Amino acid sequence: MISIKGLTKSFDSLEVLKGIDLEVGKGKVVVVIGPSGSGKTTFLRCVNILETPTDGKISIGEQEIDFSRKVSSRQISSFRRLTGMVFQSYNLFPHMTAIENVMEGPVTVKKEAKQKAAEKAEYFLSKVGLADKMKHYPFQLSGGQQQRVGIARALAMEPQVMLFDEPTSALDPELVGEVLKVMKDLATEGMTMMVVTHEMRFAEEAADEVIFMADGLIIERGKPEEIFSQPKAERTRQFLRLIQ
Ligand code: ADP
Repeated sequence: MISIKGLTKSFDSLEVLKGIDLEVGKGKVVVVIGPSGSGKTTFLRCVNILETPTDGKISIGEQEIDFSRKVSSRQISSFRRLTGMVFQSYNLFPHMTAIENVMEGPVTVKKEAKQKAAEKAEYFLSKVGLADKMKHYPFQLSGGQQQRVGIARALAMEPQVMLFDEPTSALDPELVGEVLKVMKDLATEGMTMMVVTHEMRFAEEAADEVIFMADGLIIERGKPEEIFSQPKAERTRQFLRLIQ
């Protein structure tokens, strides 16, 4: 489903991604872990092309984009539609209700009819357990509920891949579980997912593969039980010792 080859990203003279290669099969869940500053967020933002990679190729399904050549903004917007992104800080529109937030993308980007977009938004909001909160504004919702609106909003664009950038990091501890549950349900239903998170329980329970990143490179990858109980690289062992 996803194939990434030789992906690099520099901000001026700072090389943040130093050549990432990764394949993710359809329906698989990959969890990306690693120390702060290792490039995890930048990696995910490059897959969504919120950051333009400096070099490398990304393909999702049938579509490929090659950053060694000039890419047009049309190519970028069509490629971006293949992925749905969920951010740490939810990024909901504060002046719109939950359902309006979820309808916004389908109506403005995909030019869907309002009626159809509303029906779909109701479906996805129900799916994340917010059937009774559709007319609420973000300030009337808890952080966990806002993040679930964020997930419904990404799903409403019907992406092939869902990207989660530390989706529970901004939440009070008691609200983390409800968001992780929605993510686990999505994984069980066969959604292809890339998740940057510090929630090692989620990685253990939901990941098909765990990727350990440090200094802009993938240092080690494997099944969660391999990475957590028998990490091969010293960097991985160090990191896991620090967080346990
Ligand atoms: P992580 O998610 O693993 O904490 P990030 O991808 O956020 O790592 O950051 C990796 C490095 O890239 C950091 O040194 C950070 O300061 C730098 N960086 C990230 N975004 C930008 C940006 N827009 N401009 C300049 N430097 C950036």
